[in-house]
Amino acid sequence: MPQSSIVAIGDELVGGFTVDTNSHWMAERLRLLGYPVKRVTQIRDKPGEIMEQLGRELEDPDLTDVFLSGGLGPTPDDRTFAALAEALGRELVVWDETRARIERRVQRMHAMGLLESPDVTEGNLRMARIPAHPNHVFRNRRGMAPGALYEVKGKRIFVLPGVPMEMKGIFTEEIEPEFLTSGNAATVRELRFTFAVEARFYPLMRDLEERYPDVSVGSYPNFETKELVIRVLGLDPKRVDEALDVIRRKAPV
Ligand code: AMP
Ligand code: MG
Repeated sequence: MPQSSIVAIGDELVGGFTVDTNSHWMAERLRLLGYPVKRVTQIRDKPGEIMEQLGRELEDPDLTDVFLSGGLGPTPDDRTFAALAEALGRELVVWDETRARIERRVQRMHAMGLLESPDVTEGNLRMARIPAHPNHVFRNRRGMAPGALYEVKGKRIFVLPGVPMEMKGIFTEEIEPEFLTSGNAATVRELRFTFAVEARFYPLMRDLEERYPDVSVGSYPNFETKELVIRVLGLDPKRVDEALDVIRRKAPV
């Protein structure tokens, strides 16, 4: 059974400057595609910390797929590929296809008057440097940083740029159709109760936990709408509907 983890990399995320919308977006896509996420982690652009987190993901026997985002930019504070290279014990190599693509992009931007010089800068070139022996390099039609896929210890590591538009572009156009096609998405059902007291659902939920270990039941109060959402999720739609029926019949409202 596929199971994923997400690691969002960036000082600006951990520092509270930027909301980590990438992880939220990917978690939903991955759930819908049947590659549900076990955990989301946010870490800083520190090579040691990136390596440490990668080690944790690679050692987790539950995981089949790891999604990294961020830290692929042109400035020295973007360190994801360098840290990945070190974690995998591989060299950083200039990926010719990516370099050629960056060169064409710079020339196009120059022709459009968006860049002063048609020459590729060191910063631009930095983005074409990736750990050796990728299993796949993504093109990224919306930006210069590439994305890449590495298969290590039986897991796939997808490395994606942090810019949300670029990340989503690569994910939907290049990853989903080719690499995320064999998942089995969970069935999700919800019941909404207005003015319900959450604590009163305790015995019912305990009972469901025991009788339906293959179904997960969560309770999510919304204090603005005064609604209590009971969300039921599982791989077998029949079991999910059965559990839902029990809640409908026995809800303490
Ligand atoms: P990077 O690939 O780390 O250079 O990120 C480029 C830009 O993308 C950053 O300046 C952020 O504004 C944005 N960004 C990076 N990571 C995320 C994330 N997880 N969620 C939302 N925006 C992000
Ligand atoms: Mg960054």
